[in-house]
Amino acid sequence: AKELPATAGPLSQAAFERASRLMPGGVNSPARAFGAVGGTPLFIERAEGPYLFDLDGRRYVDYIGSWGPMILGHAQAPVIEAISKAAAKGTSYGAPTEAESRLAEQIIEAVPSIEKVRLVNSGTEATMSAIRVARGATGRDKVIKFSGNYHGHVDSLLVAAGSAAATLGVPDSPGVTKGAGQDTIVLSYNDVEAIENIFAEMGDQIAALILEPVVGNMGCVAPTPEFLKAIRDQTTRHGAILIFDEVMTGFRVAFGGAQERFGVTPDMTTLGKIVGGGMPLGAYGGKAEIMNQVLPAGKVFQAGTLSGNPVAVAAGSATLDILKNDPPYEQLERMGKRLADGLDQAATKAGIPHTVTAVGSMMTLFFNANPVMCWDDADQCDRDAFGRYFWGMIGKGIYMPCSQFEALFFSRLHDEAIIDETIDAATTVLAGL
Ligand code: PMP
Repeated sequence: AKELPATAGPLSQAAFERASRLMPGGVNSPARAFGAVGGTPLFIERAEGPYLFDLDGRRYVDYIGSWGPMILGHAQAPVIEAISKAAAKGTSYGAPTEAESRLAEQIIEAVPSIEKVRLVNSGTEATMSAIRVARGATGRDKVIKFSGNYHGHVDSLLVAAGSAAATLGVPDSPGVTKGAGQDTIVLSYNDVEAIENIFAEMGDQIAALILEPVVGNMGCVAPTPEFLKAIRDQTTRHGAILIFDEVMTGFRVAFGGAQERFGVTPDMTTLGKIVGGGMPLGAYGGKAEIMNQVLPAGKVFQAGTLSGNPVAVAAGSATLDILKNDPPYEQLERMGKRLADGLDQAATKAGIPHTVTAVGSMMTLFFNANPVMCWDDADQCDRDAFGRYFWGMIGKGIYMPCSQFEALFFSRLHDEAIIDETIDAATTVLAGL
């Protein structure tokens, strides 16, 4: 495997100093600042296929893929052409277009739960709006979420403090009022009993239950079949709206998302990332009777100056076309299994306590001896070992997520040779920890 300095190069360092004077922490979204692993983030100059190129001219195999969207690989000609063509016709109208209906049709055809959809600009907007619609449609206030699940920076969902028992939410961020979190109930992922108990206790007050149907935001954590059955059964029985946050999993773990993969259909679904083909676009949708509550069909307010933006819609449509007509999913499964097995063996050989969780092309090597089923499990990992692994991999030209609590993603262009190069690099790096 190749050898690079296991730190950011001089041009990235200078760029970060400049950025830090201008923007909080030098970045426009916190995960990028490498806070969890220490050191200076790599500044990216361009990307192509499975690779990122930084300011210092170094090439990396990309296992972040813009935190999920780039399932086709970077800068793919059909997507770039669609973007250019759309942009040449004007970048925003604030009026309806036929292209929006085309993307809506593609989404509705792909995602089992979606009969009607609204386009927005980010995953955060999608979840924020879905929660509002669920509350408006049910006339109830309480929302259940799971600790370690991230749904964007929505005030009422920026609450992760929880134990196995239901607790009233305590906000995680300064600036989020107690009021914003007080109708949020936080439970532990995969805890069936906690779900049964909370619905028995206050089922008639619960507007919605929202979850990541495969978690990416505490590292990759898979749901058990019993857990999926419990959330579907209990929400149906008590008239609460089940929301799958498929911002990460949509068009990723199957074309129709986790709901297709697991055969469990929620009432509402939120989308982001892949649906915008690398442009800022999100979506929320669900049963027609629920979506008809949204203004101007109904009374629940939700709007956006740039919503349905023609350039973003063109990128999303082109991406979904390729995923439908030339589906990469079998190959992603094969490469995912190869990488998961390879990382597992590499860590075993190195004598490192670990567990690997993988669902298709999402995965995490946890520096933790026990299976990870919920946040309390994920929290047990050896963060220092993870940091050394991260920088070791940078030194081999492999760009992994810079936190133990983020899943890696790869694209259809990560072929056998690239996966094997990654496993070789991990074998050397882990043996040296
Ligand atoms: N939901 C999930 C499951 C996510 O992973 C994210 C982003 N990582 C969001 C919502 C928020 O999306 P965005 O960053 O586009 O606002």
